[in-house]
Amino acid sequence: MLNSNGLDIQRDVQLADLSTMGVKAISKYFATLDDINLLPEIINFVESTHSKFLILGGGSNVLFIGDFDGLIIKNELNGIQIVEETETQVLLKIGAGENWHALVEFCVGNRWFGIENLALIPGTVGAAPIQNIGAYGVELVDVFVELEAFDIDNKTFNVFNKRDCKFGYRDSIFKNTLKNKFIITSVTIRLQKSGEVNFGYSALKSHFETLGISTPSIDEIFKAVVEVRQSKLPDPAFIGNNGSFFKNPVIPVFHYDELKQKYPDIPSYPVTEQLVKVPAGWLIDKAGWKGYRKGDAGIHAKQALVLVNYGYASGQDIYQLSEMVLNDVIQKFGIKLEREVNIFGGN
Ligand code: FAD
Ligand code: NAP
Repeated sequence: MLNSNGLDIQRDVQLADLSTMGVKAISKYFATLDDINLLPEIINFVESTHSKFLILGGGSNVLFIGDFDGLIIKNELNGIQIVEETETQVLLKIGAGENWHALVEFCVGNRWFGIENLALIPGTVGAAPIQNIGAYGVELVDVFVELEAFDIDNKTFNVFNKRDCKFGYRDSIFKNTLKNKFIITSVTIRLQKSGEVNFGYSALKSHFETLGISTPSIDEIFKAVVEVRQSKLPDPAFIGNNGSFFKNPVIPVFHYDELKQKYPDIPSYPVTEQLVKVPAGWLIDKAGWKGYRKGDAGIHAKQALVLVNYGYASGQDIYQLSEMVLNDVIQKFGIKLEREVNIFGGN
């Protein structure tokens, strides 16, 4: 254990319980961040030891394919603050280490509309902008106002508004040009005190049809999202996984039309006049991978987009399986899937 001016840095920490895939890997250095005043000192440590650096939230979108030869900081910057409240809206500033689902539950409890469709997404508030989290037709960008982040190179705090973040489909500037350059310390969102709920996705629609509910309340949407997700997705507490391992590909309409000749049941959702989104899960399922298992690495039997660790799979086992799926999908459909999960370690 190393101590340097209030910063408690541990050595050789096992990461298996710190990521939802649950694979074994060791971080050379490890510390928790519960006070933004520690940030300059953390960066000094990284610079003086010439270490790599990684900020970790709930570990639900990372895969360690080997040991991490550097410093991992676990984000525990907490606090929810009402910055502004009017008769119609509320502006919330949330510490980046807060749990996302707990935030959704808190907001739904207050009948603040906007993020109820994003229930049960694991992880932290600070990671939500990284891939502009989304589910059931709602994305973080829909409620996002701004975020504060610490610039690792310049050691200053910066504010990013919606435009600065360059949000896209499961994407932002923090996955691209600013990858690993900033530590997000808080996120500010705007929610509505009344509003329309969104249950356009067929899974939600049919859920309410079965229940005989035609105009669901915000609580009913929240409950439905939780129930539908629990019925389809493996719970990381029991089976290691990262949710969707790949992004849904967006392909030109002419390519889709060619595929449709061969696979008349291929689903698609329009993106622009020239582009359509094809569910990656459908492609992987059609290629025959659903339920596949090799050792303890597998493809979930209910959702082919989810790679799972049945117990003792290594990060490499999972990665190699993802490589096999990727190559097979290219060969069968001419579509190169992109991993949504962030890969670290194994340097
Ligand atoms: P981590 O996995 O800890 O980190 C992810 C990346 O963000 C890493 O590169 C990390 O360095 C970076 N990062 C984390 N915190 C910060 C910070 N404060 N500042 C800068 N960089 C940071 N995603 C969806 O979009 N929609 C879903 O519906 C969804 N469902 C899921 C279901 C399951 C069962 C699982 C396991 C995952 C699901 N995910 C989903 C993926 C994942 O939950 C989200 O991407 C989530 O936002 C990741 O949060 P995290 O705190 O666990 O991030
Ligand atoms: P689903 O309802 O079986 O649908 C399969 C795919 O088709 C989804 O990925 C979704 O794209 C797309 N889709 C379905 N209906 C659509 C519509 N009306 N308009 C546009 N696109 C549509 O999906 P699922 O696997 O059960 O997941 C449900 C939701 O939770 C999805 O939004 C999904 O993204 C989200 N989710 C995400 C993760 C993750 O790790 N990223 C994990 C689990 C669930 P989109 O993905 O673009 O919505």
